[in-house]
Amino acid sequence: MAAVFFDVDGTLVRWRGDYADVLADAFERAAGESRDAWLDGYDERFFHHFGAFADDPYRRAFADVCDDHEVDAEPRDLAEALVVAEFDAVEPVPGVESAVEALADRHTLGILTNGIPDVQFGKVAEIGLLEHFDARVASHDPEVEATKPDRDIYEAAKARVDAERYVMVGDDREPDIDGAREHGFETVHVDATAADLSAPDFRTLATLL
Ligand SMILES: [Mg+2]
Repeated sequence: MAAVFFDVDGTLVRWRGDYADVLADAFERAAGESRDAWLDGYDERFFHHFGAFADDPYRRAFADVCDDHEVDAEPRDLAEALVVAEFDAVEPVPGVESAVEALADRHTLGILTNGIPDVQFGKVAEIGLLEHFDARVASHDPEVEATKPDRDIYEAAKARVDAERYVMVGDDREPDIDGAREHGFETVHVDATAADLSAPDFRTLATLL
């Protein structure tokens, strides 16, 4: 038996459109309109707070944008609207459902993701696959507080499951492949950016493991 951990964004789920549209949707829902300067401001402030492991980086980033641009909305409402907009905008990466279901019969599956636990796990729930993942590890869980490719998040994943082999499946080379390999995982690189490229990758994955 192996413990097979999956990245979330670009591996299990992807956006139907651009993330900028998702963010604009949140502003429209909570502020009644969206402006490009707000989107740019939000991105910059989000990554600032996210990188600092601040509590509730969505709300903090919106609070900064509301202050800087005099947006007439509550940061908490904007943050809630963004989570709703994100859940509405995800779709499964082609081929991933059958691969996950096949692998779940033979292995323990996990999630190993950089992000906010409720948001990351919620996106996987949105595509109907969360029940297959017994081990769920997100960087911004206060008990983890480390992002891939930092050693501590891979160690947190290994501590959750006792297995003979650890496998990491992901789309992003440094966090999902190079970092995981350095910390004791076998790795499978998937590429969801091509329209149909990932389906054969996932079929191969299910037969390999
Ligand atoms: Mg990814």
